[in-house]
Amino acid sequence: MIGRFAPSPTGPLHIGSLLAAVASYLEVKSQGGQWLLRIEDIDTPRQMPGADQAIIDTLESHGFCWDGEIIYQSQRLDLYHEALKRLQELDLLYGCQCSRKQIAEHPKVSMGVDGFVYPNICNHLHLDLHQHAVRIKVSDKMINKNIVFEDLIQGKIEQNLAQQVGDFVLRRADGIFSYQLAVVVDDAAQGVTDILRGCDLLDSTPRQIFLQHCLGLAQVNYCHIPIIVNAAGEKLSKQTLAPALQSQHAVANLHHALTLLGQAPPKELIYESLDHLWQWAFQHWDIGQIPVRQKIV
Ligand SMILES: [Zn+2]
Repeated sequence: MIGRFAPSPTGPLHIGSLLAAVASYLEVKSQGGQWLLRIEDIDTPRQMPGADQAIIDTLESHGFCWDGEIIYQSQRLDLYHEALKRLQELDLLYGCQCSRKQIAEHPKVSMGVDGFVYPNICNHLHLDLHQHAVRIKVSDKMINKNIVFEDLIQGKIEQNLAQQVGDFVLRRADGIFSYQLAVVVDDAAQGVTDILRGCDLLDSTPRQIFLQHCLGLAQVNYCHIPIIVNAAGEKLSKQTLAPALQSQHAVANLHHALTLLGQAPPKELIYESLDHLWQWAFQHWDIGQIPVRQKIV
């Protein structure tokens, strides 16, 4: 069993990201598996300088021990290039020159699970892949076929990629690889078997399964835990001003995370050492106690 925690260095770690780290760590480590740490830093414009080290320091001060070297996606662009080349050889890609505005104003556009469903404007234009955004053909292959998978917490998930997502971007016009491609390539390269992460990525999973199929990679097990939202219903993030985790409050932070994960740690545990808290957490870890949905104000 190999799991991972894969934060983006867009800001410091907050309680929302800690939840995913704690859950995947306990689930994988309690079964004797390996837990990897990967910094997802390919979307360079969104990054905050120094956030990667801040995240690593916070994980360390909270008592996490990861296996092997920390992987940085920015150092693995060759792998993403290779995957793109394989998909090109399978005739699954095309160049797209559409602006957001053009897509939004197209008469055939519809709203999908993650923004507009691309109305296939450039599908048959044979544009140069190097000079444009690159999309993968979903609509041809998946028009009458749903992606179905069993999520450990969310149950059976079904999505019609053609109708709910459409041909999606694998490399943007500015040359930046999409999260969807990088994550699939890295999980396969690192031998990840079990992905435990926040529910905000549930809608992305069918795209990732589709890419796994196209690239001939093994499908992994998925488990999506509820995310924490603020009073306005927004996911906690740097944009919604989620406070950074303070290392001196590591035990209290972890106690809070375990509580949110339905593990019901005893109150006294908050006065114990970090080692004791982790000991309790490993002894009592029960993934079945994680609530399916949760709204924290
Ligand atoms: Zn286009």
